[in-house]
Amino acid sequence: MAIERTLSIIKPDATRRNLTGAVADRLERAGLRIVAQKRLRLSRAQAEAFYAVHRERPFFNDLCTFMTSGPVVAQVLEGDNAVAKNREVMGATDPAKAAAGTIRKDFAESIEANSAHGSDSIENAAVEIAFFFSAIEIVG
Ligand code: GDP
Repeated sequence: MAIERTLSIIKPDATRRNLTGAVADRLERAGLRIVAQKRLRLSRAQAEAFYAVHRERPFFNDLCTFMTSGPVVAQVLEGDNAVAKNREVMGATDPAKAAAGTIRKDFAESIEANSAHGSDSIENAAVEIAFFFSAIEIVG
């Protein structure tokens, strides 16, 4: 397996409920290393740019409103097979369908307020990491 990097976001529903550490603990216990991390509040324009791929989806506006409703914690995760491993630890988008023991099953409030984001491919991970971090901020 190859060492990969992926982008994780701890979403506003989780930061609001003081679950930043609880979510990070799940990631670290799965063997993922947090090699960069910052807490910030996305502007509307930033949220729309980050989720541009979903612009035509019916939930796009609501999603951007949610993602700007409070602070997020963006992270770069590094490890073996990091992209897939992070998605496995997060669980399915809809917490009702997420497997037991996953972040979304245990913490998510709804299909929208689902506590965590994880890149869905190595290619998207590179783009999403560059959206939040410069190379000098990532320390493996
Ligand atoms: P992910 O890769 O598992 O995060 O899922 P997607 O890329 O399909 O969707 C991006 C984000 O949009 C999800 O994590 C949710 O926060 C939100 N989302 C997805 N599907 C829905 C939906 O049907 N309704 C609403 N309100 N939000 C959704």
